[in-house]
Amino acid sequence: MNLQTDISSLSRVGLVTGKKLDKLGVHTIADLLYYLPFRHEDYATPTAIKDLEIGRTFNVVGQVELIQNKKSPRRRLNITEALITDGTDTLSVIWFNQPFIAKSIRVGDRISLAGKVEASYSGLSMISPAYEKLIGAAKGINTQGIIPVYHLTEGITQKQVRHLISQVIDRAEQLPDWLPQSIRSNQKLLELPSAIRHIHFPKDHGSFAEAKRRLSFDELFLLQLQSQIVRSQISMHRAQPIKFSEPATKDFVASLPFRLTDAQRKSAWEILQDMGRDTPMTRLLEGDVGSGKTVVASLALYNTALDNKQSVLMVPTEILASQHYDSLTRLFSRYPEIKIALFTRSDKRCNFDVAGANNGKLPKSGWGKMLSSAHIVIGTQALIQEHVTFDNLALVIVDEQHRFGVSQRAKLLAKRTGDVPHLLSMTATPIPRSLALALYGDLDLSIINQMPADRKAVKTELIPESRRSDAYRLIKDELRGGRQAFIICPLIDEDDESGSKSVKVEFEKLSASTFAGLPMGMLHGRMKSAEKERIMASFKENQTKILVATSVIEVGIDIPNATIMMIEGAENFGLAQLHQFRGRVGRGEHQSHCLLMSDCGSPKTKERLGAMTAFSDGFSLAQEDLRFRGPGEVYGTIQKGFPELKIASLFDYGLMKSAKEEAIKIVAELDKYPSLIGKLKSFDEKAHLE
Ligand code: ADP
Ligand code: MG
Repeated sequence: MNLQTDISSLSRVGLVTGKKLDKLGVHTIADLLYYLPFRHEDYATPTAIKDLEIGRTFNVVGQVELIQNKKSPRRRLNITEALITDGTDTLSVIWFNQPFIAKSIRVGDRISLAGKVEASYSGLSMISPAYEKLIGAAKGINTQGIIPVYHLTEGITQKQVRHLISQVIDRAEQLPDWLPQSIRSNQKLLELPSAIRHIHFPKDHGSFAEAKRRLSFDELFLLQLQSQIVRSQISMHRAQPIKFSEPATKDFVASLPFRLTDAQRKSAWEILQDMGRDTPMTRLLEGDVGSGKTVVASLALYNTALDNKQSVLMVPTEILASQHYDSLTRLFSRYPEIKIALFTRSDKRCNFDVAGANNGKLPKSGWGKMLSSAHIVIGTQALIQEHVTFDNLALVIVDEQHRFGVSQRAKLLAKRTGDVPHLLSMTATPIPRSLALALYGDLDLSIINQMPADRKAVKTELIPESRRSDAYRLIKDELRGGRQAFIICPLIDEDDESGSKSVKVEFEKLSASTFAGLPMGMLHGRMKSAEKERIMASFKENQTKILVATSVIEVGIDIPNATIMMIEGAENFGLAQLHQFRGRVGRGEHQSHCLLMSDCGSPKTKERLGAMTAFSDGFSLAQEDLRFRGPGEVYGTIQKGFPELKIASLFDYGLMKSAKEEAIKIVAELDKYPSLIGKLKSFDEKAHLE
């Protein structure tokens, strides 16, 4: 038997079990050894029955005093009852529908139990605990020590997996250690065989922690190494250096209607420095909603144009594209020599004279001409990638695309022989710096961690149904003062049984009653783009006062005169999304309000929505979200394109940092380590499958 031996040769693995293990991706002995537990239960030391506490989990060792099966009269249920004593006290135990237990365990046996202690009429009890008979001095592998818990598939139990692994654990000695010796000793890491042994069957807390540290390091190191490889590929490409026109930039900044924040200045400086080099920039600009990323981007676009090169601003939606077009043409209104073009499916416009059309409909014959003579092209990603090849593209800025991951960046480089453009990604996704460095190890990072000085925090209130009229009164007051309001509904066509509101019904109802006579608009994702544009334009120009919309409104819309964000059925949305909604108001000098309409059924919902009222910045909310939902869910979407971490935590910053340092050190001399290259390949393949 060696590592590549098929698991079907193990005892107790029949055809059926074999198929199930197949499903878990376990085919060979090596696979089984690498089938890592996703958590552990700590039954390191048995607890005396007299010391048990209700509601916590324990390991108990004792003698069986009584064990018997009973039939429940009402439901056709078998109940196995047992009494266990350890000399300090007695514990009652119940199992449901496992009558065989009463056959395999007899009065007088010494058994070990692991499970949660609950209160019962007869004192303390355990319901359906894990159990095993202890023979001689041997420890139990299912109920004692630090017990691994594995992901399972139907028809396979924890006990089976543990048993199978215990059969092959000695083979771990044969696992080749692909991690270079120098790194292992630098980082004081356990050798692979003993790490594998102790992750499955830890001797004690210490050996478990060491095993976990080694295997976590492996994952983070491979992740970092991947990023460093992309980075070194990027650095082998050339980019056109873009001249930093300092006096012109200063003049432009001075012409702005506001003072840049220090964080904006610093980010802009970092970006402009990068762009001046002949290696491609790959930088991520992170800043909370409303922190002013667009103007920072505009400095990069401006310098590129002044150097007579082209740039592209890619955005996820057409609405956002036309908004960026409007705000950039406004920002550049004093500089008519800067040629700006908008290029989306339904809208092609520019601020310069091309093929006879100026700010009007452009015939298809004019598209090429428009794009080749523009300095700045704004559009959606798909359109730009499908239709456009530029002669002179020097800068690409990607706005609000969380999924512009490693693979997209690699694609941007693929098959390019000549120069590649500088790349700037912008996002409002609030990821702490250390985590961003881990996830985007191949990117440099600028963070705008400061809001414009005149910004007032949005007053956020949780409003139950009984106070709905207060909410409407507030809206009316604001409208009377000249402001505008958003009302967000979770649905489009009809309200549902649970009472969730829809845009259409709410729009009809409110325009006929509460807000009769006031100009209102309606916006949802199933409308044609042109129609959406028209409605947004009318709201932006303050012709419409109230906009009833679905979550299409979510990303990036900028209307400083809007001061009310009312969110119907707030419990339907996650914190990140609610924060995005709220970011649509509070963008001007007026005090703004966010009204979370909800009767919050559960305490959990109440706590989650409460976080919205307690925290105004995205970073704190992200921390809260982590607490409520766990990193997997929160960062699941951000993490797309990355392999799932089996054992490491993205929040282990110290280990992450070490992994990154080692990856940077070794990336240039990878060919010296063939087994590391092999490991990296299989890691890569897994990443692409997901
Ligand atoms: P985001 O970072 O969410 O993309 P925007 O770039 O849309 O934010 O900026 C939000 C609003 O703040 C815009 O109306 C913009 O003109 C304004 N703004 C940007 N920077 C400043 C500043 N330093 N002081 C005041 N207002 C600013
Ligand atoms: Mg933006």
